[in-house]
Amino acid sequence: MFQLCRDTPIHANPRRRFHFDLARRSAHDISVWQKICFRWFLLILVGLAAAASILPASAQQEATKLKVVATFSILGDFARNVGGDRVDVTTLVRPNGDVHVYTPTTADAEAIRNAGLVIVNGLGLEGWLPRLVESSGGHATTVVATHGIVPRKVAAGEILSRDLGAGSLDPHAWQSVADAEIYVVNIRDAMVAADRANAATYKANTSAYLAKLETLDRDVRKALALIPVERRRVISTHNAFGYFAAAYDVTFVAPQGVSTETEPSARDIATIITQIKKEKIPAVFLENISDPRLMRQIASETGAAIGGTLYSDNLTAKDGEASSYIEMVRHNVRTIASALME
Ligand SMILES: [Zn+2]
Repeated sequence: MFQLCRDTPIHANPRRRFHFDLARRSAHDISVWQKICFRWFLLILVGLAAAASILPASAQQEATKLKVVATFSILGDFARNVGGDRVDVTTLVRPNGDVHVYTPTTADAEAIRNAGLVIVNGLGLEGWLPRLVESSGGHATTVVATHGIVPRKVAAGEILSRDLGAGSLDPHAWQSVADAEIYVVNIRDAMVAADRANAATYKANTSAYLAKLETLDRDVRKALALIPVERRRVISTHNAFGYFAAAYDVTFVAPQGVSTETEPSARDIATIITQIKKEKIPAVFLENISDPRLMRQIASETGAAIGGTLYSDNLTAKDGEASSYIEMVRHNVRTIASALME
């Protein structure tokens, strides 16, 4: 501003400007014009301050929110529950998308670059993420939401696609509500560390959400307890319910492994068809992230009913039947219970 006033010809009258020469300015001229410039500067400062004060409070709050990127919608939902109105959450894999085989976009790199906190599942789920983070040039803290969870290892007896064999880690820990509580605590701690000014809010939001998850866990146990143990056998498309199975004493069998990267082989499908017939498994389930044709084929070859759609790795959009983690678990349990009770 002062630079502009000092160097810019100051007379509106072109004739006078023609004769004007800085070297020949009288001391009086300089002092007058400096005063005028200084007053303008003050006026602009006052104007800016007034403009800032009349911005709606919501717009000011928006600008200072912690920017959080979650790799997929279940983590995004946890982040919104912990962060509330103090965070701005972006989810990379869109609703109903497949986090195992995701191809990041340039908008994703931009979101990571601008983030204050990145939340990932870990346990080998987001194989595409390290390259994205590196190419984005961002420096946000990354929190691994499964930190502290005892990882489930794929057992030798599980039917799997060839990409991941026995002993490999199963990333789908969110399917156990008790493990989801660990995710939420990890996210809370990361938000508190990234944004200490709002620590009290993050802690209070987390306590309220954990209480809801505990109620959910009790409700799941109550609903499944009504199903005779010998009928608690479920065929799902990919092996995403291992943690659910371990937590709630339900057996899941899947033609596809813990990742969706590899299609099941003809032998995998033949094995599962034999198993369904032999064990008289009553129902098979579709999945929101997978092509339904495989399960329809298995159902028609075995006579098993299609029990409905289970939500495994991602939520639906807002108007869908599983737009939050809690809705997802409730929907899955309702669907399993109603198919297996018949
Ligand atoms: Zn999965």
